Amino acid sequence: MDIFESLESEVRSYCRSWDTVFERASGSSLYSEDGREYLDFFSGAGALNYGHNNPVLLQPLVDYLLSGAIVHSLDMKTPAKRRFLETFRELILEPRNLDYKVMFPGPTGTNSVEAALKLARKVTGRQHVLSFTNAFHGMTLGSLSVTGNSMKRQGAGVPLTNTSSMPYDGFFNGQMPDFLWLRQALEDRGSGIDKPAAVIVETVQGEGGLRAARASWLRGLAELCREHDILLIVDDVQAGCGRTGTFFSFEEAGITPDIVCLSKSISGFGLPLALTLFKPGLDIWKPGEHNGTFRGHNPAFVTGAAALEHYWRDGSFQSSVAGLSSQLHEGLTQIAAGVEGATVRGRGLLAGVYYPNPETAEKIAAESFARGLLVETSGPEGEVVKTMPALTISPEDLQKGLDILAAAAVTVTGEPVALGSTI
Ligand code: PMP
Repeated sequence: MDIFESLESEVRSYCRSWDTVFERASGSSLYSEDGREYLDFFSGAGALNYGHNNPVLLQPLVDYLLSGAIVHSLDMKTPAKRRFLETFRELILEPRNLDYKVMFPGPTGTNSVEAALKLARKVTGRQHVLSFTNAFHGMTLGSLSVTGNSMKRQGAGVPLTNTSSMPYDGFFNGQMPDFLWLRQALEDRGSGIDKPAAVIVETVQGEGGLRAARASWLRGLAELCREHDILLIVDDVQAGCGRTGTFFSFEEAGITPDIVCLSKSISGFGLPLALTLFKPGLDIWKPGEHNGTFRGHNPAFVTGAAALEHYWRDGSFQSSVAGLSSQLHEGLTQIAAGVEGATVRGRGLLAGVYYPNPETAEKIAAESFARGLLVETSGPEGEVVKTMPALTISPEDLQKGLDILAAAAVTVTGEPVALGSTI
């Protein structure tokens, strides 16, 4: 038994599927201690949108650390924080006409969600929050209370209250008109659903099976929230920072949420950082009312600002992500075509293949690992093979990963895959 098994808690998960010791990484490749190379279609669960050890971010980080500048500062003012805020305003908020205040909660996605829920309740004076089937928002009690997965919910150990789960887009496979239940529940005073403070939604369900909400569905939801004076929270922790093709995943739908949660790739380098954005009128926090020791993570501000500066100043990065997205979706469509009932799910570089038999996805992910590719599964039964390559991956590496995935699918399903090169 190695130290990981003898000392580390049973709670560990990824290291069970990928049982090797990873030592180095560069771009879209990871290297294990025993010298094997693995192509990365996982990207740190979305924390590594710009790849591993990206030199564009590494150099300013190393320079910063060697310069004697501040590393830890709670929420004190530093030049690194100033530069991050200025860059975020100039390159992300202003060009999109978004007027948001920026809050730094604790440095993880769940911290951002907790802050969003707390603020929505504080602003409206209401307790109830609506979420969606198969949503995933994090593992602390507030974010778990708006998460769908029953196994994760059971881990709470206490009742998860003051929330209700509504059908996400596609939950009834198109058999129910959009928002039939939600609209009725909000409008009928006998529905038993208390008027909510907020609705929290992912535009693509990263953990819950890669269902992607249609733009029209998101617009319908935003409209319903507006009609009923309910705050709309978009959790862009996984789908944000370019993952679906635009910086915010809701841009395509043309909606403006009241509150937005960001984390994972906002530092760009895999360093912990989270933001909660909200319309200025909602900023009724009292100083220190929501606090945390690790909010001012200056190295993350440095890499975060460098990532925005390098990749988001003009539209070229977005165009290259669009090209990679079509390549990925074409490849996945060919892989899915081999199996009855298999379909492609997701949007942009957050996409995968749903298999009617949940064991198939699990087996394909394991077979891919044996062949040198990291892919995980998603969905309540792990029924979707989920691919999330770096947005900076080369078309050649993307093709290589698709070839491995196709070969793994053939081994597991016994069905041939006609994978033409999509480069
Ligand atoms: N929201 C979404 C949509 C997520 O995908 C995740 C993480 N998978 C979280 C919140 C929680 O983020 P963290 O693990 O950093 O707490």
